[in-house]
Amino acid sequence: MDQTFSQWPPSLWSEDALRWNFHPLSHAQSFDVVIVGAGYSGLWTAHHLLKRDSSLSIAILDAQQPGFGASGRNGGWCSAFSPMSLEAVAAQSSKQQAIELQQALIKSVDEIGSYIAKSDIECGWHKGGTLSFARIQPQLERIKASIRLCREFGFDESFLEFITADQADSRIHIPNSLGASYSPHCAALHPAQLVDGLVRQLQTQGVHFFGSTRVTRIEPHVVTAQTPRGAVTASSRWIIRATEGFTARMPQFRRDVAPLYSYMIATSPLTDKQWGDIGWDNRETISDGRNLVIYAQRTADGRIAFGGRGAPYQYSSRIGPNFDNNDTIHALIEKSMREMFPSIADIPVTHRWGGALGVHRDWFTSARIDLNTHIASLGGYVGDGVAFSYVAAKEVAQSILSVTPNHRPLPIVNHVSPRWEPEPLRYVGINSLLRLTSRADETETKTGRRSRFIVWLLGKLIP
Ligand SMILES: Cc1cc2nc3c(=O)[nH]c(=O)nc-3n(C[C@H](O)[C@H](O)[C@H](O)COP(=O)(O)OP(=O)(O)OC[C@H]3O[C@@H](n4cnc5c(N)ncnc54)[C@H](O)[C@@H]3O)c2cc1C
Repeated sequence: MDQTFSQWPPSLWSEDALRWNFHPLSHAQSFDVVIVGAGYSGLWTAHHLLKRDSSLSIAILDAQQPGFGASGRNGGWCSAFSPMSLEAVAAQSSKQQAIELQQALIKSVDEIGSYIAKSDIECGWHKGGTLSFARIQPQLERIKASIRLCREFGFDESFLEFITADQADSRIHIPNSLGASYSPHCAALHPAQLVDGLVRQLQTQGVHFFGSTRVTRIEPHVVTAQTPRGAVTASSRWIIRATEGFTARMPQFRRDVAPLYSYMIATSPLTDKQWGDIGWDNRETISDGRNLVIYAQRTADGRIAFGGRGAPYQYSSRIGPNFDNNDTIHALIEKSMREMFPSIADIPVTHRWGGALGVHRDWFTSARIDLNTHIASLGGYVGDGVAFSYVAAKEVAQSILSVTPNHRPLPIVNHVSPRWEPEPLRYVGINSLLRLTSRADETETKTGRRSRFIVWLLGKLIP
């Protein structure tokens, strides 16, 4: 059985989030729809289904409690960005479909914002846009290339624009800035409070929540789950798997999704003087042009929450509380933060945590709907699932209920990613990729030039 919620390391967000304590499923029950996983994917799927058919009986089962996974621990960027480049999507579908997916992501940020406002969800939502800084020449080249790509697909300055070093500095003082890209399509939020708000709304709509109910097998119309009181089943017309980074724990999906860890730190609240030195008045989310992603937000309570990827993949896709902290990666993240904000060099770091995100073999997000078995699944957002889960969930609901005439599915619908290699190949492959990415950044910082060979190799490995 899983360890209980309280045994897992807390994040900054868990401090002012609700502690759900839903009972396990206690006996065989039947519903119209059973959703496995109470993160954003599962919750938004219930939302979109009920919006279209409020008479549906829906159960959401979670091995722990709502928000336990990445949804309760993330960086709080609700952005229109996707883990797949426009080029990669176009190669899998068409240029037009890549554009449609991007437009759906842009729209989703505002739809989520409206839902939050309409439902009175207090989650520190602020749509200040997002900045990606260039601090060395190769980063500048990369940022400019990403803007050029947007133009090729017809997205103008209102989607992504280049701002000069002076313009970037007037927003946030970051040393050695050579300029930045800016997109208005991103909001900062408190991720766990969004989960709480969604759960509350869905409760009022009659959704049945079950905690400590770990699904061990999914078959057409029936799920089998393990609870503290033993095995139990639930039957339904449709079953939706929304298990993201935890998917590999179910033997039947062992090689479908690889969990990669992302880690975060948060500082104590900054003083007005410290904020005055930094700027950052509009709470834009920020990153920079390095290969190994970093991300940060100014929280609603005046802290810096700063995260980064690059932690080693664990053999056999293991995840667990002992991987939620990684001293080496946390130290690297802290170093990056202090380099970006030297004026707060002494500010204490009060929180350190991590979580697993889900990655398909081709880095592609999917929403899969099998009309024969009535089993659906969604996920593989890499690190961009806050808004993308809303979009994928909407596609799942639309496909299941077929209520929108002439709806053309987005290219994530029924996209089939290859399965991950068996171990030890998966372990060697993913960790080599992570090391290469970090090596590329080191080389670029040292030489001031793009490490073309490594970047070429990465391009071959990550579409
Ligand atoms: C540290 C970190 C920072 C991130 N930052 C950002 C960001 O700033 N912006 C962004 O867009 N994305 C970010 N992401 C990614 C984003 O958080 C995820 O893509 C998104 O939350 C995925 O939601 P989900 O519902 O699919 O999965 P999860 O939130 O992981 O939910 C899955 C749920 O399923 C349950 N579950 C799993 N297996 C079973 C089972 N067998 N039976 C029953 N229940 C099960 C789990 O307990 C969990 O509650 C970040 C991720 C991490 C880890």
